Amino acid sequence: MKMHNFNAGPSILPRVAIENAAKAILDFEGSGLSLLEISHRTKDFEAVNDEAVALMKELLNVPDNYKVLFLGGGASTQFLDVPYNLLEKKAGYINTGVWAKKAIKEAKLFGEVEVVASSEDKNFSYIPKDYTIPTDLDYLHITTNNTIYGTEYQTDIDSPVPLVADMSSDIMSRPVDVSKYALIYGGAQKNIGPAGVTFVIVREDILGKVSRALPSMIDYRNHIANNSMFNTPPVFAIYVVKETLKWLKSIGGIPEIERRNKEKAAILYNEIDRNKLFVGTAAKEDRSRMNICFVMAPGYEDLAPEFLEFAKSKGMVGVKGHRLVGGFRASCYNALPKESVEALVACMQEFEASHAK
Ligand SMILES: *Cc1c(COP(=O)(O)O)cnc(C)c1O
Repeated sequence: MKMHNFNAGPSILPRVAIENAAKAILDFEGSGLSLLEISHRTKDFEAVNDEAVALMKELLNVPDNYKVLFLGGGASTQFLDVPYNLLEKKAGYINTGVWAKKAIKEAKLFGEVEVVASSEDKNFSYIPKDYTIPTDLDYLHITTNNTIYGTEYQTDIDSPVPLVADMSSDIMSRPVDVSKYALIYGGAQKNIGPAGVTFVIVREDILGKVSRALPSMIDYRNHIANNSMFNTPPVFAIYVVKETLKWLKSIGGIPEIERRNKEKAAILYNEIDRNKLFVGTAAKEDRSRMNICFVMAPGYEDLAPEFLEFAKSKGMVGVKGHRLVGGFRASCYNALPKESVEALVACMQEFEASHAK
């Protein structure tokens, strides 16, 4: 049976990237050695790292005064690296859900944290909009796509203070005006690679301003000076990122992937809005194109386990919602083909035909 991979992360990757990674594991570029058994300090691997950085810069139009790093530790380590490097007195955070809360918790270890706005009053089903950003903040932190609740900023916001964004689950899915951000980070495992590598895009002039001593592994300047090779980087994961970005470039880059992502999201949201059995959980104007969350409509709540079983029998993988929201979540990352979304829609229609009152 054809499987349709809606996993939230780690998640679907382009088949060609997986095939090329499998080949490199057996024989890395004709060297007779596996990608898993070479030094990161070889010319050949440095070329892989440089190509991944160059593709990231090219595809996202990263301005010259920014550096791209590939580090270990996951987005969760960035929750502390960011305040360690940037928080002198006070930082602002927009609280849009679980990941934002975790970032806030870490930042509080380093200084004052002002939660500038929050959508917790409605179980994080929307992106806060009416708030004023204080000008005395060292930075403002946002989470551009809320993987668990299915909400997403639809535009790059304007901030009078340096803007820091966790883009773990929507990086490379749409155009981003990088110049509006001081720092962007995320785990690769949602949209650009496997688990194990974290990307950081940082404008160099914001660094070196805090008075505390920075451990070497925490100090972004140290990683910049060493081209992400201060210690052993996640070699295999970086290789897969390079292959995934090559695929993205080959299909037409960000404009084409944005077109595809918009199309896929429209197909699924249209069905959620049309189908009597289901309702979306996120505010319409803030709906994520990456993580599409929905529940059984009022009166049909009891059917949730049965629908999950039915979807599973049709090859749908990973559509169970996060426990904090319940219901269903279809993650439609870059590599998910339109056919998978259409298969899920067909599944929802068939279920409606046999269960609608
Ligand atoms: C998955 C996710 C994280 C956590 O990433 P790790 O790499 O597991 O630390 C953080 N933020 C967002 C928005 C996520 O989706």
